[in-house]
Amino acid sequence: MEHRFRTSRFTRGNVVFPTEMVVTDRHVSRIKPSFVGSVEESISLRQVSSVTVSRGALFADVTVHSSGGTDPLRSHGLTNAEARRLKDLIEELQSNILSAGVADLSGLRACPRCAEAVKAAAQVCKHCGADIPIVLTEEAPREPAAAAIADSGAARAAQSTAGDDEDWTWS
Ligand SMILES: [Zn+2]
Repeated sequence: MEHRFRTSRFTRGNVVFPTEMVVTDRHVSRIKPSFVGSVEESISLRQVSSVTVSRGALFADVTVHSSGGTDPLRSHGLTNAEARRLKDLIEELQSNILSAGVADLSGLRACPRCAEAVKAAAQVCKHCGADIPIVLTEEAPREPAAAAIADSGAARAAQSTAGDDEDWTWS
């Protein structure tokens, strides 16, 4: 699950490369493209301390504040409605994490490529075969090693399945 909020090209600083704000169930990111590649800054949802929206006539300035000591993410050029939606989404996701801890209880997280739920310890997605980078978070470390060993078997199976998919040809 990934929500993208793209700033308007008609606003200051966004004419050539509009900045994007991306919200997943884990992070809030600000992606600023440039000629030499994009710059991405992220704050873990758990570390978002507040979101302020400063409305203008048409466009709003959004600032996502972090409790983790990192710089806030600032976005200029979302419409007022989009800014409102961004703030609501972040607050909704945060309350889900705080109230239910769904991801932790189930041991699942979203695959960064296909967004299907995969085991937290998995390094390969069983749905799309993507290599899942190990995400360093402030959450409690996973234990024990036995779980990881069990998962690696499933991961290998998933990988071979994915390989079959790629070789498939219609006849
Ligand atoms: Zn996947």
